[in-house]
Amino acid sequence: MRFASLGSGSQGNALIVDAGETKVLLDCGFSARMATARLARLGTAPDELTAIVVTHEHADHLEGVFTFARSYQLTVYLTHGTHAAASQGKTALPECRLIDGQTRFAIGGLEVQPFPVPHDAREPVQYAFSNGQQCLGVLTDSGSITPHIVEVLGACDGLVLECNHDQALLAASNYPARLKQRIGGRFGHLENDQAADFLRQVDTRRLQHVLAAHLSQQNNRPELAAKALASALGCSENWIGIADQEGGFGWRQLV
Ligand SMILES: [Zn+2]
Ligand SMILES: [Zn+2]
Repeated sequence: MRFASLGSGSQGNALIVDAGETKVLLDCGFSARMATARLARLGTAPDELTAIVVTHEHADHLEGVFTFARSYQLTVYLTHGTHAAASQGKTALPECRLIDGQTRFAIGGLEVQPFPVPHDAREPVQYAFSNGQQCLGVLTDSGSITPHIVEVLGACDGLVLECNHDQALLAASNYPARLKQRIGGRFGHLENDQAADFLRQVDTRRLQHVLAAHLSQQNNRPELAAKALASALGCSENWIGIADQEGGFGWRQLV
């Protein structure tokens, strides 16, 4: 199993999980045209995809989902709440499967475990993906860490982990007070130290890759995210990968 990012941050997010026959796009926060170009960068054509799995309705995750799914006849998996919020003013999806936010489902050879996250959307979830041997956990857009998140992502082989902001940079930024409260609040986004605390709570012995994702371009810096995660893992800062807005990150293999 391998995975790569098409880009990550408040301007758009999409991740591809490739389990051989089954290739799944997690969110599509880019226009269909841009997503296609970014997939090409990873040597993948849209018609190789099996499905799109959606976390929540915010535009940086949903932007291209409908057009992309229609263009390539892809099944879209999402919660009832996300579907209700996402469908307003849009034409119907070609094929969508409403999922329960806590119940595992299969897409081809990939097992997909959704889990609810505290975030200011209608029914947001994040996901763990397993091919039966390796497990990839993805956690972004979560205002805090719950015991359930720690349980689901307790022993992953790969983690893509939100490091949205540095608390001091956010506090010192010129963002309006209400926006600061939203981002830093319990239903906002994880900051570097929260992500590091999460790593201290899980079994990290199997981890082959850790990537910091959804970094704020104003209120974070890659080196601060890497430093926080590396200190929790007791590893070199260079070992921590960074998902950036433009380039995402290239293929990472789980063996
Ligand atoms: Zn987001
Ligand atoms: Zn969001």
